[in-house]
Amino acid sequence: MDFPVVIVGAGFSGLAAGILLKKAGVDSFTIVEKLPGVGGTWRANTYPGAACDVQSHLYSFSFEPNPRWSRSYGPQQEILAYLERCAEKYGLTPHCRFDTAVTGADFDEARGLWTVHTTGGDLPARALVLGNGALHLPAYPEIEGLREFKGPVFHSAQWDHSFDPAHKKIGVIGTGASAIQFVPQIAPASKTTHVFQRTPPWIMPKPDRPMKRAERWAMEHIPGAHWARRTGLYWRLESRAYPLIHDAPRISAFAENIAKKFIAEQIADPALRAKVTPDYRLGCKRVLLSNDWYPTLARANVELVTDGIERIEASGIRTKDGALREVDAIILGTGFRVADYLSPVRIVGRGGRELNDVWRDQLATYLGITVAGFPNLFLLMGPGTGLGHNSMIFMIEAQARYAAQSIAALARSGVAYMDVRPEAQAAFTDELERKNSQTVWASGCSSWYRTPNGGLVTWPGFTFDYWRRTRRVDWSDYELRAPQPVVASIHEAGPRDRDRARRAQRV
Ligand code: NAP
Repeated sequence: MDFPVVIVGAGFSGLAAGILLKKAGVDSFTIVEKLPGVGGTWRANTYPGAACDVQSHLYSFSFEPNPRWSRSYGPQQEILAYLERCAEKYGLTPHCRFDTAVTGADFDEARGLWTVHTTGGDLPARALVLGNGALHLPAYPEIEGLREFKGPVFHSAQWDHSFDPAHKKIGVIGTGASAIQFVPQIAPASKTTHVFQRTPPWIMPKPDRPMKRAERWAMEHIPGAHWARRTGLYWRLESRAYPLIHDAPRISAFAENIAKKFIAEQIADPALRAKVTPDYRLGCKRVLLSNDWYPTLARANVELVTDGIERIEASGIRTKDGALREVDAIILGTGFRVADYLSPVRIVGRGGRELNDVWRDQLATYLGITVAGFPNLFLLMGPGTGLGHNSMIFMIEAQARYAAQSIAALARSGVAYMDVRPEAQAAFTDELERKNSQTVWASGCSSWYRTPNGGLVTWPGFTFDYWRRTRRVDWSDYELRAPQPVVASIHEAGPRDRDRARRAQRV
């Protein structure tokens, strides 16, 4: 089928889009990936201890079960190997252009064609699928003097594997999902590790364990066994949605008590206990899972520093109380630039409008997938679809299916492009804002769920509801344009155009 499609990114999102496009009969796509191979975040994040905090039997494609996970929560290398296998099995590797970054895309309204600019030249695309993820641009903290530090400084997402922590004095900034995984791995060998915490995370025990041989055998050979485990995991996680999306303080307090007991069990020192106990509602920031974070902080060679950082000097980190901790290296566990995740890519839609400009005040989308004025553009993991309780792969699959269904319909129908109606987008965005304002994520804390202008990037509902709403493309939400003559809508179209659009609807 001659319908060129460009997919940005070869992580879970981009691979899902490629696989589902193939299943929908569209084989004419190119996956452009800035890294040298597939895997996305699971290729980029190689810090010690990197692993998933969602159980792997669920944090994997529904159509590609893997009964052979070594642990209930898969380590980074295994997840990467799984994605590499998927790319091979579904014949995606020949579609990939590695070491190539997308820098921008311009839409030609007359031809219904995107020109996608990459570091390896321009590519034409009738449809553009953005699978580049929101957590891919490392956030470097704006701390005075960071550049003046004389030793190595690196971000958790760009781990320097030549750095040996043994006998070193290390400063770690940040106590988020990444830091709580790598600090326990490097601190024991270090001379001293100073962890600079701005806000303590809520942490729950991680029920991680090796998968038993019998379990793996059963999941491989007994029909339905893998499905049963996956389904059980899905509903267990989904049951946590209610207190998040309805900000139910009583349920949160129940969970907070469990988390506080966990602190008491793992930390004997009352002063350290006080430092790690959050003062905001559980769930407002992502709840983290770890069995070794608190014991690591309680080690004699580890210090949890809660006085704010004043500046960084050539030899170390000075806090606001005037103390200087001399360190040999600084590791930044400071997260990602979520709100401007598309900023390196200049996407210009109808009327010459640039997506980053359009989104300056509000990250408005329809279903987190399409954006008015940017025809045949599909976002995966777009704004308004982030989760705090379940597997993002579930959301990614729903979005990739929606994109594949739309693209296959466009390819077969001859419709030049689909552009979401501004009123459908406005209604969705208003609904999202209203519902998000009632969630725990809006209960008063700072997190990457919140954009600088106060919006939230989270899905304020159940994931099965998202699945239901994205299961079939509702073409009445879209303006469909034939190449020539211009047709304003499916209803206003002439018989030939209506026929084309109907064919689009049938797919
Ligand atoms: P993060 O959760 O955003 O944490 C960043 C940390 O850096 C926070 O503790 C933050 O403090 C601190 N920080 C940022 N700027 C600072 C500054 N100027 N001074 C002092 N502290 C500063 O980032 P992350 O740990 O990389 O995780 C990001 C997301 O990636 C996670 O929420 C998760 O979705 C994903 N992730 C997933 C896994 C997994 O297991 N699946 C593992 C790692 C990451 P404040 O809290 O005060 O802002």
